[in-house]
Amino acid sequence: MQPKLIIHGGASSLDDKGGLALVRQSLHQIVMEVYQALNQDLTAVEAVRLGCELLENEPRFNAGTGSVLQSDGQVRMSASLMDGQRQNFSGVINVSRVKNPIHLAHFLQQETDRILSDYGALELARELQIPCYDPLTDFRIQEWLEERKDNFQKKMARLIAEPADTEARKGTIGVVALDREGRIAAGTSTGGKGLERIGRVSDSAMPAGNYATAQAGVSCTGVGEDIINECLAAKIVIRVGDGLSLQQAMTKSITEAQAHSTDLAAIALDQQGNLAWGKTCPVLLAAYHTGQSLGDTLELADDQAWGHVSA
Ligand code: ASP
Repeated sequence: MQPKLIIHGGASSLDDKGGLALVRQSLHQIVMEVYQALNQDLTAVEAVRLGCELLENEPRFNAGTGSVLQSDGQVRMSASLMDGQRQNFSGVINVSRVKNPIHLAHFLQQETDRILSDYGALELARELQIPCYDPLTDFRIQEWLEERKDNFQKKMARLIAEPADTEARKGTIGVVALDREGRIAAGTSTGGKGLERIGRVSDSAMPAGNYATAQAGVSCTGVGEDIINECLAAKIVIRVGDGLSLQQAMTKSITEAQAHSTDLAAIALDQQGNLAWGKTCPVLLAAYHTGQSLGDTLELADDQAWGHVSA
């Protein structure tokens, strides 16, 4: 069957990512590379691993290298991978000092204990002899210092972000793939919202933010708390399992999310090769390959809440 691929680089503005042309170039390049590999028989799970790795390595996006800093100036990353065929979820939560959190999530696919948090995830990285790596970039340090300029002491003492700061640095990356054998996988990786309280857990390593079955796969971005409240990824996928088309499942779930004043977005595909996306936030930085052509959502109108490409 014809492979399909959809990826995202988050739901925040293009301004802190170098603008439209550069973001488009990064996303298209990665879609092309992963799609080519899918066409040469890479499995959906391997394609998700590769796509997430490439996106984590691109400092423009908030995952892996270039992750945002949390309230205490540290990077803590979360990533998950779900193999739709086996309906098997694995992930790491708040891990530091590794280059590619998605590699740990991928390794955990075969383990009995499949979701590890901070200390345990780091221990696993040591066990696997993954080299220690600092994902911090100058841009993120400057950005954090700027955010903190006027009330550094106050916020540092409290170790939390003020509500007004929760918009600070959304980002996240995600990949959903359908391979030649008709298998689906989804992966999501993030540095979090930025400036969050120590110990805050992102949706990206939860079924709310990343979910796949044999019928469909979804990766989300946006405010994790909103995504968790909607249980968005799992909800869309399960609706497809219950008989809705992908497009109907996306539209219904986003309409509900709109009614709850949320700030989120999702990308999706199904086993027939339909692609879909939806958002309640102004921007979604997604790109896809239909088998015939490349496309993206970079220039959607702020209020264009959903879209799809039929197989
Ligand atoms: N969902 C991520 C989180 O809340 C952030 C994002 O996607 O922008 O951790």
